[in-house]
Amino acid sequence: MDDQALLSADDYADALTEYLHDHSEKALYKATKLSQHFIESGLGPEDIIALHFEALDQAQEGRSYREQARASSDAQQFLLEVMIAYGVKYKEYLELKLTEAMRDSEARSARERERTMEAERLERERGDLLQLVAHELRSPITAAAGNLKLAERYLDQGRLESLPRFLGSAREAVERLSRLSGDLVETTRSGRVELPLTPLVLAPIVEQANRWARVAALSKGVALEEELECEEVLVLGNSDALLSIVGNLLSNAVRYTPHGGRVTARLGCDAGHAWIEIADTGIGITPEAQERIFEKFFRAPDARQIDVRGLGLGLALVKQLTEAHDGSVIVASTPGEGSTFRVRLPRYSGAIEGEPGA
Ligand code: ADP
Repeated sequence: MDDQALLSADDYADALTEYLHDHSEKALYKATKLSQHFIESGLGPEDIIALHFEALDQAQEGRSYREQARASSDAQQFLLEVMIAYGVKYKEYLELKLTEAMRDSEARSARERERTMEAERLERERGDLLQLVAHELRSPITAAAGNLKLAERYLDQGRLESLPRFLGSAREAVERLSRLSGDLVETTRSGRVELPLTPLVLAPIVEQANRWARVAALSKGVALEEELECEEVLVLGNSDALLSIVGNLLSNAVRYTPHGGRVTARLGCDAGHAWIEIADTGIGITPEAQERIFEKFFRAPDARQIDVRGLGLGLALVKQLTEAHDGSVIVASTPGEGSTFRVRLPRYSGAIEGEPGA
């Protein structure tokens, strides 16, 4: 028996002696309270009975036979009370232990579930990143390869004067590729997009993205127009990311607009914001799909029919990069008539370094 059980054994003997002496409710109450200790000390019913008889022997000392006989029957009553209390308490105790054990095992399996989900999430993110990079690499790689091919052909024909232009465009595309993939890797590593931002003019970015989209638009018979207001407007931005935003929206507009349609890139501003709008007269997006198009891997069923290629990652990247500029992107669309995507960015009110007034 440990200390606590010993303590209870003495207390038990005291309570029993008290009961045999005055048959008081108080002594019985003490006994029932002791049952709790017995349970907590791990004493079983046999232990209690042994303890009871030890205590009774102690209490009987010096008593006459007759007194001893009466005390034995009173002591039985006392023991009965203790055992009843013990039974009730033991049931409560078991239930408590059972609940605790169930809680423990639930917590353990919840932790296990969390760990598995976390591992799966990381695995998915790794996969997402690879696909995102592959998606982003596509247009600059096409531009670089196309320009190199042209340079080769002009070189064969001895028309050297155009070479610097083609090679320059190819180099630009490759440089953009390398910066972009660097940014993307950085982004996933830190868990959120942290792009280096500098004050820059938006108009040249829209123009450059438009130049890149022209080839695809021409070959599909889609007219590509530009309406630039606020040509001087400045934002705090990252030119590669902004090119990626406008490039993705333009490439979608061309892909989801059938032959004979029109795509318009607009630049506008008000006192606090600049915006870029890419509007098309294409297939449009249903209200249900509009809710989901910025999710990774979402593609509307009608989009799959018109263009089988596509991972459903472009708009997720557009949203992520826009938010890294403290901006927002929204869509307005009518199925069968067309869509307009608007990227809104806070206007930068300072001046560009090195420019007059900076
Ligand atoms: P992808 O074009 O590779 O499928 P995105 O993330 O760029 O991936 O676009 C997600 C979905 O949003 C597309 O599959 C399509 O359903 C819809 N969508 C995007 N842009 C347009 C658009 N201009 N017109 C119609 N649907 C569009």
